[in-house]
Amino acid sequence: MDLSFDHSITADYHSGSQIARILTESWVSDNMFCPRCGNPHIKHFENNRPVADFFCPVCNSEYELKSKNGPLGRKVNDGAYETMIERITGNQNPDFFFMSYSKSELKVIDFVLIPRHFFVPEIIEKRNPLPLTARRAGWVGCNILIDKIPKQGRISIVSNGVVFDANNVVEKVNKSNKLETRDMNNRGWLMDILNCVNKLPAQVFTINEMYMFEKELQIKHPQNNNIKAKIRQQLQLLRDKGFVEFLGNGIYIKIW
Ligand SMILES: [Zn+2]
Repeated sequence: MDLSFDHSITADYHSGSQIARILTESWVSDNMFCPRCGNPHIKHFENNRPVADFFCPVCNSEYELKSKNGPLGRKVNDGAYETMIERITGNQNPDFFFMSYSKSELKVIDFVLIPRHFFVPEIIEKRNPLPLTARRAGWVGCNILIDKIPKQGRISIVSNGVVFDANNVVEKVNKSNKLETRDMNNRGWLMDILNCVNKLPAQVFTINEMYMFEKELQIKHPQNNNIKAKIRQQLQLLRDKGFVEFLGNGIYIKIW
C-alpha cells in the first residue's frame, strides 16, 4: 500500500474540492483491499450513485468514503441529516471509510473503517439549517460524531502513516460482525454498554463499577425503569458474543 496520492491525474482540474475528491477516490481504487472479505481490490461506482462510493466485486460489500485534510478529530461533515437518519434506521447505510490526509504532503495519514452496524441515530448530529442567503437555503446537513463510536467499531487500516496488516483488519471486521444487531433500540443499548465498559480502565471490572453509569444511562433512556437489569442483560449479550467473560461473583474480564 502506497500512501502517496497520484497527483498526475489532476492536471486538468482547477477546483480545490474537485481535486481533493479525485485524489482521495483514486487512492482508494488503487490501494484499498476489501476489509470484509480480503479481496485485494475494490471498485469505484459510476458517478452520481447516491448510496455508496465503492463496492467489492467479490462479496458485494459497499463503502462510502469521507475524507478530510488534517486530523479527523471528533466529527466529520456528511450530507443531509434526514437522509442519513433514514438510511441508518432502515439498515441501508454502507460501511464507511474515514480518511485523514495531508494536503501539503499529498498522502494519507489515517484510514479507518467503521462498519455499518455501528451507526446509530445518536452519533448523527444535526447542523444548523443553511441561511436564507445560501443557494440551498434551509437545507440541514449533519456531522458524524466518530468519537461516540465504541473503539471496537473504529478499525484502523492506516494509523499515523503506519499501514496495518490486511489479514488482521479482516479478522477485526469479522469479530466486530458479532455485534451486528438490526433492531435500532437494541443496537443503541449495545453501543452504550460497550462504551461504558471501554471507559473502565482495567481489564477486569465488576458489576458495581458498571452500575456507576446508571444515572448517565437513565438520562439517555428515560423510558427504561430498570437500568441495572438492562446493564446485566447487555453484559450477558457481550459475553455471548465473545467480548467479555464472566468470572463469577459479579466480576467480568474484557477479551480484546
Ligand atoms: Zn469483499
